[in-house]
Order: sequence, then C-alpha cells, then structure tokens
Amino acid sequence: MDEFEFIDWIRQQPSIKSDVVGVGPGDDCAVLRIDREQVLVTTDQCADGVHFLLPQCGAEAAGYKVMARNLSDIAAMAGLPMAAVATVMLPHGMADKDVQDIYRGLRRSADAFGCPLVGGDVGSWDGRLLLTVTLLGRPAVGKPILRSGAKIGDAICVTGTLGGSLPSGKHLHFTPRISEAADLAGRVELHAMIDISDGLAADLGHICRESGLGAEIVAENIPLSTAAEEAEDPLAAALSDGEDYELLFTLPPEQAELLIKEQPLAPGIAYIGQIVARPEMKLRIGGKLQPMEPRGYRHRA
Ligand SMILES: [Mg+2]
Repeated sequence: MDEFEFIDWIRQQPSIKSDVVGVGPGDDCAVLRIDREQVLVTTDQCADGVHFLLPQCGAEAAGYKVMARNLSDIAAMAGLPMAAVATVMLPHGMADKDVQDIYRGLRRSADAFGCPLVGGDVGSWDGRLLLTVTLLGRPAVGKPILRSGAKIGDAICVTGTLGGSLPSGKHLHFTPRISEAADLAGRVELHAMIDISDGLAADLGHICRESGLGAEIVAENIPLSTAAEEAEDPLAAALSDGEDYELLFTLPPEQAELLIKEQPLAPGIAYIGQIVARPEMKLRIGGKLQPMEPRGYRHRA
C-alpha cells in the first residue's frame, strides 16, 4: 500500500463526530474549531536514509528540515505558526554535539517565524535518527485555504522555481513560504492552495481531486530552477522531483494577471495554467495538449 492509498482507506473509515473538527484528514493541516477560533494542526516526520542522509548533511540540517516541512504545511493553508512540539528518536551512541545540533536546527527554522518550541519527547533505539514535529497554527487572514476550494476558470499560479531540489540541496535549506502565503491571503482571493512537497503534477492532482475538477498547464510557463535546467529532462524535473516547498494556488484569473504584473513576492510568481471542469490534468507543450500524470514521490509500505 502506498501513502495515498493508505490515506484514502483512512478517510473511508467511520470517524467520531465532533464539533471540534472543521477539516479532518486529507489536507495539509487539520482545522479545529476551539472557542470559535480556527486552529491548524499538522505533523510531519523526517527519517535518516529517507528524507536526509545524516553523514552528508549533519544533524543541524536534519533538525532544520523537519521543522521547515511542518511550517510549509502551515503556509499551504495560509496560516501562521503558533507553537511546535518535537519528538526525536536518537540512534544509540549519537555524539552529544549532534544531539544538540538537532535542537539548534529545529530552533533556527522555528525562530525565523517567531514560533516557540514548547515540548516533545526524546527516545533512543537501534534504528537511525527519526525526527517528528507537530505544529499548531492559525489562519493569517480570515479562514484557512483548503485544497478543495478551486473553481472552474481559476488561474493556477506557483511561487519561486521548481525542480532539482535534491542536487541543489534546496530540500534541506528551503525557506517555508509562510510570509508569502500570508501576503497572498491578504492581497487576493485565494480559492485553493497546497505546498509542493510531492511534485507539481502530484500536488496539483491533490487540488484537482479534492475540488472535483481538472487542470490545463502550459509547459513553457512552468518556472524552472537552475538545477532543473541542468537536469536531463528539465520539464520532468519541475513536474515531479518534489520537495520544492513552493506554494501552488488558484485564484480568479484577473487577480492572477495583476499579481504577475505587480510581482509582490521576492521568490516571484508564475501563472502556469487554469482549472477546468473536466476532472483530468492536461499539459500543453508547444501547441499540443497531452495527458499529465500526477506522478511524484510516494512512500510505500
Ligand atoms: Mg503539504
């Protein structure tokens, strides 16, 4: 079973009815209603050998990455982080400095967004380093932006550049787009948003599926990173490498035109396509429209 099949199965199981749950499993964060406030909750883990290679990147970068991945999921809902807790499973015999470096990395990432690290749990085992962070947040403006809110005719936009996050090292050193998402939420009418962790094609697939719609992307409008340009197939790198941690969002096309003209965000914004009624994803290369598979990284049991 791969991760998405498992999540689909979970979503089919009977759940406890509760007034507290606004949004359950299947988005970047859950949304809880607590005292009329909306609280975002997300959790993400990073394992040595899967999400990072400890001997190559070091413990500080591993700590940074796991916190930043969680912050990116809060950004995906146009949220601001409130507090984090972290769980670490240390391999037996890890050096004291490395243990402290994990904490330093967690803090470097969280401190950049004024997010306090308020607790967690420490264990040790015969396995490799495993880090887990849980983050609470709140909507930056009004309500959280879900994957399911895309509308027919919406423009599809993306921040920054895509592809090659492994060779470029971006997957370890990215800046979560918290401030960019908050800026967008205050500036335009965001309909749907997600952070690109699995890859543009796969994550756009999540928006389409949750919104019950399709998409048409114009290949030449996809912003390629330098690392993607150096890849054997730059377009494939931008579509499916993943771990870009950029924002993918939909909004009314006239507002997207204005964003493109004004370019209010430092990483840049590209207008790459539109949401369509037919629930399929298509890619326009040259004049030709071809199917776009929602391919990307999948964890598999
Ligand atoms: Mg996400």
